[in-house]
Amino acid sequence: MEDYLVRIMAKEAGVRGLACVTTELTNEAIRRHEAQGAVSIGLARGLASAALMGALLKVQQRVALKFEGGGLLKKMVVESNSYGKVRGYATPIAEHGAISSPANMMDLFSPNGLLTVVKDVRLKELYQGIVPLISGEVDSDLAHYLNQSEQTPSLVELDQHLGEDGRMVVAGGLLIQALPGNEALNLDTYVNRLDDLPPLATLLADGKTPEEVLAFVFSGEEYELLEVRPLYFECSCSWARSEQALLLLGRAEIESLIEEQEAVVDCHFCHQRYIFDAAALELLLEKL
Ligand SMILES: [Zn+2]
Repeated sequence: MEDYLVRIMAKEAGVRGLACVTTELTNEAIRRHEAQGAVSIGLARGLASAALMGALLKVQQRVALKFEGGGLLKKMVVESNSYGKVRGYATPIAEHGAISSPANMMDLFSPNGLLTVVKDVRLKELYQGIVPLISGEVDSDLAHYLNQSEQTPSLVELDQHLGEDGRMVVAGGLLIQALPGNEALNLDTYVNRLDDLPPLATLLADGKTPEEVLAFVFSGEEYELLEVRPLYFECSCSWARSEQALLLLGRAEIESLIEEQEAVVDCHFCHQRYIFDAAALELLLEKL
């Protein structure tokens, strides 16, 4: 199944539902970061979170989520735009050695930490919201942020199944949220329906589509299909941006890099490496 996200609206109930499958883009992130264990699982959950948040944006807007904690992962930054493009990286606490899978999803960040959400909504100022992590397992932390900071009753479920070979077998996410103007809505009905369903990863592994997952969650309700959007891992880094970063260092710094014969610009988000040899650095000096 290709990665995609489905967004529906149950107008009468005052609720929207989003479901996505993110297996391929997670595997692309795992491949680029040579991730394993907790890093792979963190990326699966983080990238699905970003995809869900990205689907709530308006045209040209962007969102970044930063999780910081003291569990198996020290930090994770995931980003999405309004066109289904996601990217992200996760840093384990232990820099070296094998990174084990979490026995419990709470071990990912442990409950001690922060979730920072930054939105570029094309205004002068960035919008920023910060909440303490309440569980460290990503999905309930994102729901807590949406409930507290955005004051929108929300449920988030993220799930994944990491194969023995280190590749993600399935990954995906689900967001149930009150529509604007329904801030007092109680989502217990949906909590119960989710409890009655098999875990999301089981549904996806059984070949259920995001549309079918939402049909289960909204069974017996009238709803409208608003959007089906493809999702993919894509980074916005480039040779030109790396050049800009080097130019900011200034003449003296570039001259000393020329003496060292090369400069390497490594992208955190996708591990693309931009190598500037002495000749390329000389060209930069001319541009200054
Ligand atoms: Zn990149």
